Amino acid sequence: MMQAPTQAVPGSGDRIEFPFEPPRPDGELLAVAPGVFWARMPMPMQLDHINVYLLRDSDGWFIVDTGLNLPRTRELWELVVERHFDGLPLKGLICTHFHYDHAGLSAWLAERFDAPLYMTHGEYFTMRTLAGPPPEPLPEALVRFYLRAGMPRPRVEEMFAKLRRDPFMPPHPTSFNRLREAQVLRIGGRDWRVVIGEGHSPEHACLYCASDRLLIAGDQLLPRITSNVLVSDIEPEANPLRLWLDSLDRLAALAPDTLVLPSHERVFRGLRPRVAELHAHHAEQFDIVCAHLREAGAATAFETKGRLFPRQLSAVEDMMALGEAIAHLSCLRYSGRVRRVLDDDGLYRFSLAN
Ligand SMILES: [Zn+2]
Repeated sequence: MMQAPTQAVPGSGDRIEFPFEPPRPDGELLAVAPGVFWARMPMPMQLDHINVYLLRDSDGWFIVDTGLNLPRTRELWELVVERHFDGLPLKGLICTHFHYDHAGLSAWLAERFDAPLYMTHGEYFTMRTLAGPPPEPLPEALVRFYLRAGMPRPRVEEMFAKLRRDPFMPPHPTSFNRLREAQVLRIGGRDWRVVIGEGHSPEHACLYCASDRLLIAGDQLLPRITSNVLVSDIEPEANPLRLWLDSLDRLAALAPDTLVLPSHERVFRGLRPRVAELHAHHAEQFDIVCAHLREAGAATAFETKGRLFPRQLSAVEDMMALGEAIAHLSCLRYSGRVRRVLDDDGLYRFSLAN
């Protein structure tokens, strides 16, 4: 019997669709479901915005993520509360993860509106640990991590000098309410279940409402750009890319027509096709890495980074790109496809395991 060609049904999640135009980054709120609102906070960088979400409860509001610690973002939050909260209080501030576009204003919001912070243990303590500039002088173990990866010492120093001048390094609230996997937050008549993801950050919280098929996804599932997944000196033997791909598979198991509310770009449907695209993207990166190792015989992570990201990078971008290259090499190494040797010159050299 002939199989009828499969048709992608609009709204079913068979393909990626963007049902809304984004709100303006000026305090405008856009309802994406009853009591669930999308707003945008501007960012002065290449990725020029972050999405934040507002959940209306019977007697107040919850917000998810904060935007950067900048005067303009604070102004916009004042305006949103004044214009849209109907005099009701901010009951809680939920941060999906510790990155400063997501949690950068948590201390200010918690203080200004007297609201508790909700965050996972992993994210909260990572935020506290990384608050403030890098230590001076840099610890030898940290420098060694980058040197072993093949990064020249002056580049390591340049990178951390830049990080020391970072203008967004935010303060943080001194207490928090811990979010855990599968915990349920009852907000606005909905049950929002905490779904933890790993790889982009240590214990990233998504919120899933099964009855209305809504997923507040943070950076765990973005519609077009890829979230960075990197290895750093803090956990040099980590395998975050494996954790990341496994986390994506857990999200792909949610209802196919789920409306995904991501932290960047547009609200979308089609989590399964998007997860498939992300798997394909990383499979391609693995192929590039393996082709490079085949040709070179052996290579450092820094050389592999040059192959994965051939354009000129700023010092901080270079650190992210190197971290991504190591994440791919580590994933291949843990799966047995690549091996790593510490050479006499103190460099880790990677080669195909044959
Ligand atoms: Zn992030």
